[in-house]
Amino acid sequence: MKELLSDNNINLDSLIEGEWVEPIRIRGMQRMLESIKLDEGVDSTTRQDIHEPYGQMVEGLGFYYAMIVVCASFDERLVKRWVEGEASRADKILGELTDSETFDTVARTYLSDIRIKTQEASSGSIHASRPSKIIFEIPMVDFIEISPRITGHYWNLVNRPTRDGWVTISEASGENSQQRLARLIKERIREVLVDRCKHNMNNMDDEFAAKFADPVGKMVAELQLQKSQEIEITAVHQGDWPPCMTSAITDLSQGENVNHAGRRFLANMSRALALSIDQAQSFFVNAPDYNEETTRYQLGHLYEGEYTPEKCQTLKMAARCPVDQGLVTDRLCQFEWLTHPLKYVRAKQRRRSREENYATAEGDQTPSIASQTNSEDNNS
Ligand code: SF4
Repeated sequence: MKELLSDNNINLDSLIEGEWVEPIRIRGMQRMLESIKLDEGVDSTTRQDIHEPYGQMVEGLGFYYAMIVVCASFDERLVKRWVEGEASRADKILGELTDSETFDTVARTYLSDIRIKTQEASSGSIHASRPSKIIFEIPMVDFIEISPRITGHYWNLVNRPTRDGWVTISEASGENSQQRLARLIKERIREVLVDRCKHNMNNMDDEFAAKFADPVGKMVAELQLQKSQEIEITAVHQGDWPPCMTSAITDLSQGENVNHAGRRFLANMSRALALSIDQAQSFFVNAPDYNEETTRYQLGHLYEGEYTPEKCQTLKMAARCPVDQGLVTDRLCQFEWLTHPLKYVRAKQRRRSREENYATAEGDQTPSIASQTNSEDNNS
């Protein structure tokens, strides 16, 4: 960062006001906005060629500018959000990195060491020369320190192969060893960013922070807006569940067989609605082929994979949409924009929240809220 600043003759004043560094500020704001708005963090693609000095300046100093702005906000939520966005971005980029030398350098920066063992792929391959795959190992001390922050049985030390103080980071849940390792590194990156932000905030006085009042104001307002729009998914009411979900639960509770697509959808939907594995498991206890251990294992696997629940189209094709089959009628499901069961939940929640606001407003005799109680047509 120091080199980028000095090589480009940029100081703090020019970073804040310099006309020619506008692209840096725009990129910094964009990174902050993406960390606020996108669940998957800051977009991993860049518009600039980062192999060119100009691209390095815009990306590198855009990151730096964003960090100063979030620190100058002294808003813990904004800092947390930005750190999460940047750490997720790093996770994605590292997981997909094809330049092994760079990956190793970054991994060794954040972990005390890494070791590589090459394994033969798919033993059942009919080809004489099979492609090899890389499996990483890391020191047990790193694993013990980082893994408790990640949920899922994969990250329990007892579930990982270990040898002479090294833990094997095997592939799992559709991710290869490099992607699994990137997930661990993400936690260290998060830690470093949090420490750096704390340090910055401790060393920032009011006068310095005031220089960033304008971008800070914009970001805090954006965060407020996002928060007010966010659905409190954990507080989801049973009445908000879409017909495809309730029909799968009803069928199972009546001992009817629900096909694989329906079961998988129910598990993924339960996770997306933040229901516990115990709650999800309770849906299956009356299934004709119910086995506690197998169900638990399969649910654990799907919960850990964090899969998005299936779309309406997929459910219709798998004969798991009761509306499409004419078994129930639901006005919400008729809208063209209703393409995913989670949209159904969100629409229901918004409607309920509006009704609650309306009821409160009526109680307070505040008439202006009435204008907000439109039909759900706008929920797309
Ligand atoms: S239309 Fe979509 S949300 Fe509604 S029941 Fe069918 S699959 Fe579920």
